[in-house]
Amino acid sequence: MGLRLKIIINPSSGRETAMADLDSILMYLSGAGSLTRADINYTAGRYDAVHYAEQTRKDEYDAVIAMGGDGTVNEVITGMMRGGIDIPLAIFTSGTVNDFATINGLPQNASDFARMLIKPRYIRIDCGKANEDYFLNVAAGGLMTDVAYRVSSDAKTAIGPAAYFLSAMKDIPSISRSIPVKITANGKTLEEEIIMFMISNTRSVGGFRGLMTMADVTDGVLDFLAVKKMDPVNVVPLLGSLVIGDHLRNENIIYFQSDDIMIESDSPVDLDIDGEKGSALPARITCIKKAITLIVPDKEEPL
Ligand SMILES: [Mg+2]
Repeated sequence: MGLRLKIIINPSSGRETAMADLDSILMYLSGAGSLTRADINYTAGRYDAVHYAEQTRKDEYDAVIAMGGDGTVNEVITGMMRGGIDIPLAIFTSGTVNDFATINGLPQNASDFARMLIKPRYIRIDCGKANEDYFLNVAAGGLMTDVAYRVSSDAKTAIGPAAYFLSAMKDIPSISRSIPVKITANGKTLEEEIIMFMISNTRSVGGFRGLMTMADVTDGVLDFLAVKKMDPVNVVPLLGSLVIGDHLRNENIIYFQSDDIMIESDSPVDLDIDGEKGSALPARITCIKKAITLIVPDKEEPL
């Protein structure tokens, strides 16, 4: 018996190639005699993917396929988490930010993706929760959040993370707004003036692969990183440590791992959740361990 798939697709993502990719995937599966049913749900607006995912009848499908950019993927996991839909999820990222796929070795072309569905391997991955919002990649807040998440992945790759941060941080002395925060995690409380913070579930953070070097989507903890308010003379040394990958130990970086983090502030701060606006502080941010079954390629383990 072939696969029974529920497909949730943003037809306008990925420079309009998502539809062609879907056709190719379905043709490949059909040709291999591996497709019994494909119910296709096209998103037309925000939260459509949440509703489609949440309404999945889990005994009718072998997998949910999320096709689109980060926003679509976030909505699909949100719907599945809210609905308690614990069936395997496959992610085909045709959007601009596909770091999650790259880092996790997920196929990014139709035939490889179809082959993965035919011969799947399953891993259990964590899901982040910030107040009532779920996230796959990152929850963040503060000065650079807007810049960091709206710049295209291509642009970031082209200029490199250090150069990008240099351009973003040169404005810091003139933009004096820092955030007083109270962070509680791992039984400790810290009060600090910071510029920005991010809590990451994966190593994929807005296209900066060298930033959250310790993050692992299966380890049951989230990685917290904040940049302290600092004297401008310390910016260049921080960038230097970023280049050599030593930034997590820099004196102007707060970094730790935890499965339960409380962040409070006297200033109004909105959270950015997987690139979209979320709730405001205060926020309790937790790691929901092994919450999602992700379909990944069945690679032979190296000896
Ligand atoms: Mg983790």
